[in-house]
Amino acid sequence: MKKINGNANILIITAPSGTGKTTLTRRLVGEVPNIKVSVSVTTRAKRPGEENGIHYWFVNEEEFKQHVEANRLVEWVKLFGHYYGTTKDEIQRIIQAGQRVLLEIDVEGAHHVQNIYPESCTIFILPPTILSLWTRLSQRGTDTLPSKWRRLNTAKEELLQGKNFQHFIINDNLENAYAELKNLVLNNQAVKLSHSEGVRHCMKLNEEFETADWLVELRKKFKEEDATEHQRRSRS
Ligand code: ADP
Ligand code: 5GP
Repeated sequence: MKKINGNANILIITAPSGTGKTTLTRRLVGEVPNIKVSVSVTTRAKRPGEENGIHYWFVNEEEFKQHVEANRLVEWVKLFGHYYGTTKDEIQRIIQAGQRVLLEIDVEGAHHVQNIYPESCTIFILPPTILSLWTRLSQRGTDTLPSKWRRLNTAKEELLQGKNFQHFIINDNLENAYAELKNLVLNNQAVKLSHSEGVRHCMKLNEEFETADWLVELRKKFKEEDATEHQRRSRS
């Protein structure tokens, strides 16, 4: 049987945006003293309640480019129109302090970091359904409709990469999902889903994209808006 690696020093938590990874990781680091979240740099605007150096290091594009050029980033991506990156300094600082690092990053970045640090533990958090993902993005209230739509479409691509990750947790009931996560990283206890069940759930979610009625309606609306936007541009 494959060894469970929930006790790794580098924990990578990834999920489509809106699944609940921030909610889960904030709680985890609040309760488990020797795990620290790596604070990324980003060019996206601060959301209400976010603080520089706690949620992100908020920088402008010029400053971000300087990080890239100085080779200070382990990985970086452009997501939803903004840059996000993990600094080497942040990972080293946490490890040198004798603590475990938790990276809460997007699917592409997670795959990249796993290749750089093969001993790391990767955890893919999944929504129970795509409809619940859409509802959560709406309830969070931090994104405009086009931004939510972009996040949803990115989720479709991200789910196709699910097979690259080691552990899968479905964040349906928050308490249950949290208990699974905590048990994995604190007690090195296996999560409920096997790897193949996790991959199957990713495929099921992908099918929902193809078949859900509510998505057909939404897609139509966005096509109409695109067409209007196109007409407006052609006229100007
Ligand atoms: P992410 O970091 O993956 O983008 P968040 O942690 O910001 O996601 O969560 C998105 C929204 O979903 C938030 O409003 C959060 O309170 C809510 N949420 C998280 N987990 C659950 C859950 N199990 N059930 C219902 N809502 C949830
Ligand atoms: P948000 O704008 O909602 O805070 O984050 C959007 C996405 O960017 C989330 O999936 C989040 O995990 C991801 N993200 C945050 N920081 C990094 C980073 O340093 N690298 C990568 N690859 N993704 C990141």
